[in-house]
Amino acid sequence: MRYQSTRDASHAVGLGAAIARGLAPDGGLYVPEALPALDVSGFAGSASLADLASQMLRPFAEGDVMAGFLPAATGDAFNFPVPLVELRGAQGPLSVLELFHGPTAAFKDFGARFLAASLERIPRNDARRLTILVATSGDTGGAVASAFHGRPWVDVVVLYPRGLVSARQEKQLACWGGNVRTLAVNGTFDDCQRMVKEAFVDPALAAGMQLSSANSINVGRLLPQMVYYAKASLELSRQDGRPPNFIIPTGNLGNALACVWARECGLPIGDIVLASNANATVPDFLQTGEWRPRASVATLASAMDVGNPSNMERLRWLFPGWQDLSGRLSARPVSDDEIRATIQRDYAAFGHAWCPHTATAACVYRGLEPRRHSERWVLVATAHPAKFNDIVEPLIGTTVPVPPALAALLELPSVQTTVEPRLEDLRHVLTGAT
Ligand SMILES: *Cc1c(COP(=O)(O)O)cnc(C)c1O
Repeated sequence: MRYQSTRDASHAVGLGAAIARGLAPDGGLYVPEALPALDVSGFAGSASLADLASQMLRPFAEGDVMAGFLPAATGDAFNFPVPLVELRGAQGPLSVLELFHGPTAAFKDFGARFLAASLERIPRNDARRLTILVATSGDTGGAVASAFHGRPWVDVVVLYPRGLVSARQEKQLACWGGNVRTLAVNGTFDDCQRMVKEAFVDPALAAGMQLSSANSINVGRLLPQMVYYAKASLELSRQDGRPPNFIIPTGNLGNALACVWARECGLPIGDIVLASNANATVPDFLQTGEWRPRASVATLASAMDVGNPSNMERLRWLFPGWQDLSGRLSARPVSDDEIRATIQRDYAAFGHAWCPHTATAACVYRGLEPRRHSERWVLVATAHPAKFNDIVEPLIGTTVPVPPALAALLELPSVQTTVEPRLEDLRHVLTGAT
């Protein structure tokens, strides 16, 4: 299997190189040249999620150095459960795919852990330590810090917008120390992202250190996300003989793209419905055919505050015609008022607390045409509600129990540096510590 750039078919590399590079040299995103047709009947015997991951991803690593250590990497990465919980009392058959049982309580742990497990094993020509820069709006930074913390070949520098993440997200970003440095930037997420991009093209930094990025455009973060869609769809379609439909909270389109890829590979997945927050670039495009990226607006589902989703480039590469694409996906925007109302109403109805992101999917489910409730649906739960207790608890009028992994991180002291949104400040941190 070769991976080509979305912008230039003549540039193609193997999986290990695509993961090590992150972005293609022409600025495009790596995509599999052709998605493999998977023999899903063979997946039945997979004993564990790690086994299923290794079996399912094997064709994606074929002919590459990664093929040799794929089982080790998936064993390292997929070391926490992905429960599929039936929600009784809903309008129809409904399950919740809980992706928040990893170390930082959001689905970003899958991609971050597989990326770390892969980079640890991909041979590098450069003997210098790797420095991973990551700009985060909240969840990615914690997942990447957790996945790379304590690995002796790498340093991590996390940049987040000071005051614009939840209190517990901030704790998760700043609790690491060791090979992880956390920068609270006096600016926005866009400033953080700009500083990272500037650092990559800064000659002074390039000369002295080996920089890499762990943001969501890396194909090594997308592939592992296909695995939980495989597990859930196989489990449910074996139960009732019909491919289940999925509703996915969506920001940068990484999680949703993984579901589309899984369906293209032959997994029994029915409709894929995207739930956006007030940042409606994707729903507008699917409705009108006009691609109008815009500046993001702040919402309660902050990890989905994306006005120009980068993975759209991969989706449009796969389905170049708008009609083709809009026939395969639908999307709906959800307002903050709807998020609040859904958290309140569903807690009262099911005793189930949603995080604000998952609430967008739950809201879309409630708004489906009534006849569609007879089909089997899966809500994709992207984060644990305890991570957003400042939003969720006042709405449901009670405290959300904190999962043990998150509780352990919240106990740790915070170590972070506040910086201005300037490249000089980042440069100073990077060079001062090497
Ligand atoms: C990142 C994130 C999302 C959005 O996922 P994309 O892959 O960017 O579409 C949704 N919910 C939570 C909790 C997240 O952290």
